[in-house]
Parts: sequence; C-alpha cells; structure tokens
Amino acid sequence: MDVFNCPSCQQALWDPVTVRCGHSFCKRCLRGPAVERCHICKQKLKPRGAQELKCNTLLCNLLEKCLQSETRLNRVRSDLRDLLSLQDHEEAAKVASRGVAMGRKEEKRQALEEQK
Ligand SMILES: [Zn+2]
Ligand SMILES: [Zn+2]
Repeated sequence: MDVFNCPSCQQALWDPVTVRCGHSFCKRCLRGPAVERCHICKQKLKPRGAQELKCNTLLCNLLEKCLQSETRLNRVRSDLRDLLSLQDHEEAAKVASRGVAMGRKEEKRQALEEQK
C-alpha cells in the first residue's frame, strides 16, 4: 500500500487529517458516517466536530505537489459535489475558491510551458 493512500477510500490522500492515533485519512472520508474506528489500528476515533477536522498542513502541501493537477481538480470537484449534497455551503464555498486558485495556477503553468 502506498504511504500516501488513504486507508479508507484507497485513493491518494486528499486534505489529509491525522487522527489522534497518528494515522491519516482524507477529510471527506472522516466526514462520512462510516468511520468510527481507525481502519489500521481500530482505535476509536473521537467524536467529530468541524474544528477537529484540521488538515495536516505538511502532508497537504506535499500531496498537492505530488498529485497530478488533473487528479487534484477531480478531487476538488467530487468534494464539492459531496459538500453541496450535505448542504454544507460554507465549506463548499471554501473548496470552490480553492479549486479556482488551483485552476489559475495550472493555467499559468501551461502558459509558461507553451512559451518554451
Ligand atoms: Zn480517503
Ligand atoms: Zn490508527
């Protein structure tokens, strides 16, 4: 198993949140009702409040660099869809603006490459 794969969805970690046992999951995987125990060590996870789902910034930055831009934008898109269906508009707005920033960065990168 890839170290950067989420034990819950088996995909590359996205917005990784490190829970108290030290294992990391995607934020969206922890948001779902399915995860009550850590998939790896079976330790019970704390009751989840929004504040608790703090991303591991170090991992976040690392992953944003490692993942293909297309993968990242796909994750943003599916995250957005989830949040809208959960009626979490505040969080959805945050995710959307992040997607816009990502898209802009990507455009800039492509423009630079075309100049070469
Ligand atoms: Zn996951
Ligand atoms: Zn664990």
